[in-house]
Amino acid sequence: LLQLYGPLNFLGSVYSGIRTALVDLEHMLSLTEEDVEVADPPNPQPIATRLADSAPAHVAFRDVYFGYRPDREILHGISFDVRPGHKIAIVGSTGAGKSTISRLLFRFYDTWSGAVLVDGQDVRAYRQKDLRAAIGVVPQDTVLFNDSIGYNIAYGRLGASPAQVEEAARLAQIHDFIMTLPEGYETQVGERGLKLSGGEKQRVAIARTILKDPRVLVLDEATSALDTHTEKEIQAALKTVSARRTTLVIAHRLSTIVDADEILVMGQGRIVERGTHTDLLAAQGQYAAMWAAQATGEA
Ligand code: ADP
Repeated sequence: LLQLYGPLNFLGSVYSGIRTALVDLEHMLSLTEEDVEVADPPNPQPIATRLADSAPAHVAFRDVYFGYRPDREILHGISFDVRPGHKIAIVGSTGAGKSTISRLLFRFYDTWSGAVLVDGQDVRAYRQKDLRAAIGVVPQDTVLFNDSIGYNIAYGRLGASPAQVEEAARLAQIHDFIMTLPEGYETQVGERGLKLSGGEKQRVAIARTILKDPRVLVLDEATSALDTHTEKEIQAALKTVSARRTTLVIAHRLSTIVDADEILVMGQGRIVERGTHTDLLAAQGQYAAMWAAQATGEA
């Protein structure tokens, strides 16, 4: 897919639909056909992509206004900072604008006004390919290729050695599971192979991301509940991948974001409350009400 992606990029608008689908496959962030194309700048700035080679990134939104269509503004002045290595969580009801924020960070769209900054530079200063290499995403639902489970992990960094793949799988808490499979890392998965559970697929996505080693991590938390044991393993794996990494979590279960440096509560394209978990409980507003509801098992 990565090999296809480059050439397709040059073939122009005829292929924009296909290219959109490919980008989507990797990022699981839905786009529609009317989307305006974003263009690379004539003199792109370099950006470090892997955490191993550089410091964690600084991500910031500065008074961002945006809509998908001219007649409907979706984000109405969003500002926040995720300092290097910090973790920010975004919560709020469906349609509040949480995924739109992650799409703007990837620069699938340009803002109407205001700016999205990575390392203090407007994302429009970078080549899209470079920007997207610096950001890793663990999506809600991971697509597996009809290939071996080893390949599916190595896809995070094509060219990774078997030892590196295994190391990533261990950190993502999926190595032991793979060892129980008939052909270990060579076991075929996907539509035409072994079907993995939601929790297993998520751990494959985490292993991929560990290999990719991006400077920014976007976690799009699954809405569907996993069993308690799986949930614990996933949380441990996510902790490993987000450690020291600048992280944005689109969260559904508040229990997973108690440790976030800042929580943004979104409502209809605005940040309606913000602060740490402790701050927000003390404020006794919307977040505190959501917390109380989840604690009693209503949500
Ligand atoms: P959330 O992630 O909080 O559920 P989204 O960011 O996906 O919310 O959506 C915010 C608003 O933008 C919603 O009203 C949604 O209908 C609208 N929207 C999302 N994606 C598109 C799109 N591709 N085209 C038009 N409108 C969209």
